[in-house]
Amino acid sequence: MGLIICLIIVGAIVKINNEIRLPYVYIDGTPYIDVTEPSLSYHAVYDEIDRQLHLAVRDNLYIFTEGITVAQINEKFVPLKKNDFLTKNRNSYVTAEFLLKNEPKLFTKKPAYLLAKKQEAKEEIIEVAAAKQFTVEEVSQYFQTLRSPLKGAKADIFPSHIPGAPRTYRYGFHEGLDWYTYSAGTDVNRRTPVYAMGEGTVVRVDHEYKPYESERERKKDLAYCKTVQRTPQYILDKLRGRQVWVQFDNGMQARFAHLDLVSERLKVGSRVTEDTQVGYVGNSGTSGEVKKDDTELHLHVDLLIKGVLFWKGLSKEEIQHVVANELSQSL
Ligand SMILES: [Zn+2]
Repeated sequence: MGLIICLIIVGAIVKINNEIRLPYVYIDGTPYIDVTEPSLSYHAVYDEIDRQLHLAVRDNLYIFTEGITVAQINEKFVPLKKNDFLTKNRNSYVTAEFLLKNEPKLFTKKPAYLLAKKQEAKEEIIEVAAAKQFTVEEVSQYFQTLRSPLKGAKADIFPSHIPGAPRTYRYGFHEGLDWYTYSAGTDVNRRTPVYAMGEGTVVRVDHEYKPYESERERKKDLAYCKTVQRTPQYILDKLRGRQVWVQFDNGMQARFAHLDLVSERLKVGSRVTEDTQVGYVGNSGTSGEVKKDDTELHLHVDLLIKGVLFWKGLSKEEIQHVVANELSQSL
């Protein structure tokens, strides 16, 4: 990252097709919009702990996280080019190319204020996005089109393993479902294939995964979790290890985590079905990986509906019910 941002030239107006009137900077020859500059056309909130940017443009909400090559745009996961989103010196930059593609109206000759929302609107948009939840009936309905990611295996419903269970070592909560040998009803090891669960499109596949360099590096991140009393999003992503993310056609998303290997042929944009292998079970991102042993070998999958963790509105019992009845039966 450090090498990439070696040259920043500040300009006044970026011109692509002679129609752009936004403050911009050139970073290594690429035009970026500094979205942290006050503007009437959009509103940005950067969370320095999560290293995450919420950007509201008209009625659209974009969520970018440092180090993650997927953005959430409203209810969908969308792949990014590697440097579409950058942060430096507390400023956040999005490439003009990305904004031009997704928000062409920002770049027309129309005065920017016509597109503006009130300043207060930004907090509101972010709060509305965070407050979305689903009922047990809605979740069950969504789950019906999914199949188990491990053939012949059941997801864990131990109270300490279900989503929402505390994870004190990182001052956060468990966000997904787990499959371990002792609870899945089948052996789960590095030769266990992981399947894509349903019809959708790959938005992220970690072919060039870089593990923590040492146990010490990982502990440093965990110590920071303690300092801020939560798990920052960019750290949570490192703790998930090698991943594949899928945007399902039914509006759901999956993050397959801790993988040992990902399928060679899989690319961003690849179409998948319940029978497509995305990789093999592993323990990447866990303490077992940095200790170079087989502890913590398991599959972890986060499931979201329209960009929201499916379990946010459910009680413990409802989560157990949905996981046991919908997902484990669909083998
Ligand atoms: Zn887990």
